[in-house]
Amino acid sequence: MTRYIFITGGVVSSLGKGLASAALGASLQARGFTVRLRKLDPYINVDPGTMSPYQHGEVYVTEDGAETDLDLGHYERFTGVSSRRSDNVTTGRIYSSVIARERRGDYLGGTVQVIPHITDAIKEFVQSDATEDFILVEIGGTVGDIESLPFLESIRQMGNELGDGRTMFLHLTLVPYISSAGELKTKPTQHSVKELQSLGIQPDILLCRCDREIPVNERRKIARFCNVREASVIPAYDVDNIYQVPISYHKYGLDNEVLHHFGLQAQDPDMGPWEDICDIIRNPEGEVTIGIVGKYIQLPDAYKSLTEALVHGGIANKVRVKIEWIASDDLEKTENVSERLSKLDAIMVPGGFGERGAEGKIAAARYARENKVPYFGICFGMQMAVLEAARNLAGITNASSSEFGPTEVPLVGLMTEWSKDGGRVERRSGEDDLGGTMRLGNYECKLVPGTHAREIYGSETVLERHRHRYEVNINFLEQLEQKGLKFSGLSPDGRLPEIVEYPDHPWFIGVQFHPELRSRPLDPHPLFVSYIKAAKERSRLV
Ligand code: GLN
Repeated sequence: MTRYIFITGGVVSSLGKGLASAALGASLQARGFTVRLRKLDPYINVDPGTMSPYQHGEVYVTEDGAETDLDLGHYERFTGVSSRRSDNVTTGRIYSSVIARERRGDYLGGTVQVIPHITDAIKEFVQSDATEDFILVEIGGTVGDIESLPFLESIRQMGNELGDGRTMFLHLTLVPYISSAGELKTKPTQHSVKELQSLGIQPDILLCRCDREIPVNERRKIARFCNVREASVIPAYDVDNIYQVPISYHKYGLDNEVLHHFGLQAQDPDMGPWEDICDIIRNPEGEVTIGIVGKYIQLPDAYKSLTEALVHGGIANKVRVKIEWIASDDLEKTENVSERLSKLDAIMVPGGFGERGAEGKIAAARYARENKVPYFGICFGMQMAVLEAARNLAGITNASSSEFGPTEVPLVGLMTEWSKDGGRVERRSGEDDLGGTMRLGNYECKLVPGTHAREIYGSETVLERHRHRYEVNINFLEQLEQKGLKFSGLSPDGRLPEIVEYPDHPWFIGVQFHPELRSRPLDPHPLFVSYIKAAKERSRLV
């Protein structure tokens, strides 16, 4: 029997609802339950695939090739459960499915309305293939937004239909400290709960974000005014690292209250693995500085999974990872390159789109190759490393990517541009036209024996998640290998390069896929562990 926990947010946005949901998932797992997390996003885009990273942060890609909200990354990192296409839905997708049904005549001439048709579609989504003990459903946005009303109505209905034994409402709020008065204020929480109540939802648990201790009296007041048990007013204090959150929730009784609500008994949770991680984060043996050369550096959320994967690599090597953000445009001036890169322990060129800053990324790859600085190129970062090798090692000076416009030498291009038979057709098609041309989700990669990649992974094949339109042109393999760039991972049919490396470099690897998407604190990705190890070794040399 699956139980549903609905997580809403009030007062202001950015309280960390995604993290709160993920951490609660981890706490329930520590009690021995199985969990799955889902996210309902109120915006009208069908998925975030076409949204700018400035608007929406990173696009998180699932194994089955869905482009989803970055909160799904938090869910996976905290619970280790791989998300699926069916774990994230937007208003846009709900509406487009209802409208498609209407066009097919499925509603038999009836008037199609928000209630019941849209709300039924939402409820169907929330309950689809539910086999876990708990499904945690995060509702995007803040209570009071017009956009999220159909979602709130749907979860209200589910509460009514399934009853308290199978549903629970958790509301995340803010208890601000007003310095001029020297007081904590509970009124915003009271108002936010009233708003929820006016929609027919009575929260069962309140999780109150606060930057200082909330005294018992204040908690009692919140409980009384908001109609919840006093023990169910749980403080959510700021912590020094996100992996501390499950521990903190447990300390203040969140998982206990959830079990109390459902009338469940369970084993005491084992928080040991989280405590071990936090110990290392608090007392590292050293520090490494990684330079990330990118376009969206003002907005670290655009690289969320990447920075987390670096932290995981750091935990595995017992070092703190300090990130230096380097605007790729800056490296287009030659005099900047060595000045900006020479103090780093390793260089990272992450995924990216479009021509702007590409020359700076190529310069970073060249600097790393020539100066033997560890280099990790992900997706676009691999493509730029290959372009660098072609231009500066193989002398193909006009090599380019057709992503930057028409080129005589599409060293990187759409497969249809460089393959004689027009390429492969196995790509999964997304629902929108732009998404449909991308290689998305898990694809297999065969590792070449005797390479760094093969040794790091310790297996013959790997499954990794992809999100790109362009491919490195396999016809250049021989020419580049002769000059020292080894193609160490290929698609099973041998037609698409997946990994490149320099065998005689301490650590220089480019991958066409996104390994950061499957790195988890309790199960760090081997490439990140090995990369940070190389950075650590360099930090001791220089
Ligand atoms: N822009 C490149 C492509 O589409 C790389 C994409 C990426 O880095 N995710 O192939």
